[in-house]
This record gives sequence, C-alpha cells and structure tokens, in this order.
Amino acid sequence: MTNQHQHKFNDDLLEFLDKSPTPFHAVSTMIEQLEKNGFQALNERDVWGELPAACYYVTRNDSSIIAFTLPDSDLAESGFNMVGAHTDSPCLKVKPQPEQNTESLFQLGVEVYGGALLNPWFDRDLSLAGRVTYLDSQQQLQHTRVDFKKAVATIPSLAIHLDRDANKNRTINAQTHLPPLVLQVKEGASYDFRTILQEQLIADSPMLDIVSVVDYEISLYDTQKPAIVGLNDDFISSARLDNLLSCYIGLTALINGDNTRANLLVCSDHEEVGSVSTSGAQGSFLESVLVRLSLNNQHYHRMLQSSMMISADNAHAIHPNYAEKHDEQHGPKLNHGPVIKTNANQRYASNSVTSSVFRQLCIRDNVPVQDFVVRTDMGCGSTIGPIIASTLGVKTVDIGVPTLAMHSIRELAGSQDAYMLNTVLTQFYKK
Ligand code: ZN
Repeated sequence: MTNQHQHKFNDDLLEFLDKSPTPFHAVSTMIEQLEKNGFQALNERDVWGELPAACYYVTRNDSSIIAFTLPDSDLAESGFNMVGAHTDSPCLKVKPQPEQNTESLFQLGVEVYGGALLNPWFDRDLSLAGRVTYLDSQQQLQHTRVDFKKAVATIPSLAIHLDRDANKNRTINAQTHLPPLVLQVKEGASYDFRTILQEQLIADSPMLDIVSVVDYEISLYDTQKPAIVGLNDDFISSARLDNLLSCYIGLTALINGDNTRANLLVCSDHEEVGSVSTSGAQGSFLESVLVRLSLNNQHYHRMLQSSMMISADNAHAIHPNYAEKHDEQHGPKLNHGPVIKTNANQRYASNSVTSSVFRQLCIRDNVPVQDFVVRTDMGCGSTIGPIIASTLGVKTVDIGVPTLAMHSIRELAGSQDAYMLNTVLTQFYKK
C-alpha cells in the first residue's frame, strides 16, 4: 500500500516540478492545488478584519506564498506549526537589453542567478519562462506569466579539439561563455527580445490586450522532463529539486493535515541570493501576515513563542565518488530518510530542542532520520531557517531530503525520501 501511495506521490511531485519552471509558475501551481482544496485567497491590500476559522493563502510578488489554516481556538495558546521552503533555484536570467548578434547568430545576454553549477548548462535543450510586464490598450501596466515550453535556446560547448585541457581545467567566463544561441540571423533582419516575448504571449492567448512589452524577469530552464531513474527506480532526477521538492512536500502535507489546527506553510523567493527582498525570507512578508492574524502586541509575541518552524531545504547526500567531502559520521544516504542539519555557528537554526521534536516525529512514523554536519575544515551553506529564527524569534529546525548534484541543472534525490518527509510533515500538521 505504501508503495502505491509513494508511486502516486512521486508522479504528482514530478508533474509539479515540470509545471514550475520559475518561482512565478511554482506559486501559481501551488495556488491551483490550494484552491482545489478549499483554501481562499487573501490580498495584502484588503482589510482582513478578524478572519473566521478556515483555510487561506496570500501571495507577494507572485513569487512567494503563505498558506495557513486558522482554528477556532486562541492562536497565542496554540501557536502555528510552520513549514518553510523556497521557490527559487539557481539559473540563468535574461538581461534587460539582451540582444547580441554575433557570427550570424542571435544570442541572449544572461546573468547567473544564485550559486549555479555552470558546466551542466552547456549542450542542453533550453526554454524560457518567467513574468512579463506589458502595456495594454488603456495604457495600463499588466503582468502575466510566459512559458515557451519548447526548446528555444542552447549553449554549445567548445569542442575538445579546440581546448585539449578541457577535462582538466576548463573554467567558465560567465560573461562571455554563457549567452545561449536562439536563432540563425536572416540577412537584413533584426531581432528584439521584447517583440519575441510579445509574439509568444499572443500565440499563447490570441485575445490578450497587449500593446508592448515593457519589462520582464525571464530565466532559462532545461526542457528535459523530471524522471524516475535507476534499474530499480531508486532515484528522482529533475531540475529545481532544491527546493521545489520541499515546497511540494509542505503543500501536500498542509492540505492533508488537520485543517482545524493552526498550520502554516511559507514558500519564499530569493533564498539562493540571500533572501533580502520584498518577497524573500529576510523581508517583511511572513511577519506582516502573522501580525495581521494576532489581536495585539502581547498576543503576537505569545503566538510566536508558541510556534515552531520546520525549515525544509535539501541536504547534501554523500556522493560515492567523493565520499571524502563528508564527515564520516554525518554523510546522509539517499533513501535513508530525512536529514536534520546542524551547525555550531548557526548557519542552520536547529538546536537540541527542535531537532528532538523532529526526531520524535520521525520515530513515531517509523521514518528513519539522518544527521548532517559539514566537515569542520569546510564552510557551511545556509537556509531560510536561521533568518526566520532570528527575525521572528520562532524556534526552528533545519531539515531536508538528501540530494546529490545540488545546484546543477539536474539534481538527484532518492525516490523514497520525499514521501517519507511528507509522512512526517503531515504528522506535524496534525500534532
Ligand atoms: Zn535550497
């Protein structure tokens, strides 16, 4: 039975990943699921008043989302059971004036977003997606999402014949080596990226009232679909596992949790670039929503102290070909369960109290649990966990699904781990 459930869960996860090439698309995919399950939209510009017990969601910048369930009981007593994740992933973003015309090829200038592993971006069939702001016939600014879906760009490698040392020490100049090829330039023709976007939008919705594209946030993504991989289907291979996998796990756990309790899911944009933005975890989004759900200052602070956050973000699994990169006692294995991440220097927010709560949740569900601590001679990554813990004062544990090839264009997780974490988080939302 578990196997059947796990298959269904993984199929749905793969579909979610495929439908969510950018944070804007991830948020809209999550909204679809939430609305299907009775969650009502709130707008930050409206007066909320005292909200009746029910299920709600609110977005900011179309790229971050908070969904929550409100109980009848006092929030200061119960606090919120919170799960946090992030909607963004390292990628290449198209520059504002991207047009490049070189050697009869039209290319797009790109910026690197976040700590992307750049080598895997070469020789892939890439597409474009994101948000477009345009002027309508009433001279009003409107915005919409766009997804080209088909492969429209590629970054060819330099042949090894022209760089005999490529396998030893090829380095990438992000300014000059990354602009993708988009089309072969026709004699006398000129190309404008905003016009290309406009044509795509009209092709997608012929009735769209669009006069001109003003600006955009467009990124490149790999068109290869997420897949279950391995002789025994042991692996999930996909782009954006960090951290859409956790967004999806949190979302399904919230939907299947106890909706009469105070549960909350926050999925923030801009984690990969430090979380400092209107919609990032360092911004005011979560705080502002929580303030509006509390009755007064005292109530707000009591509510925070009664709450707990599980910050879910992928953990580095031990790589069999590079096992020396892990501490021997703290090398999480694929398909061996979720990982508690700890760091003495507070790059992770876990402490003995919060990690024990998570460990007990796992034990109760017969889910194995692993530990990660970075090697003492290496620097440690971070997550939204310490940011939320420090800005709100909510006790937090950092956990995640063991993953290989993190920040590559295609990452690898175990096919059992996402389902196991989902079981644990669903329990947390019933606690
Ligand atoms: Zn992450």
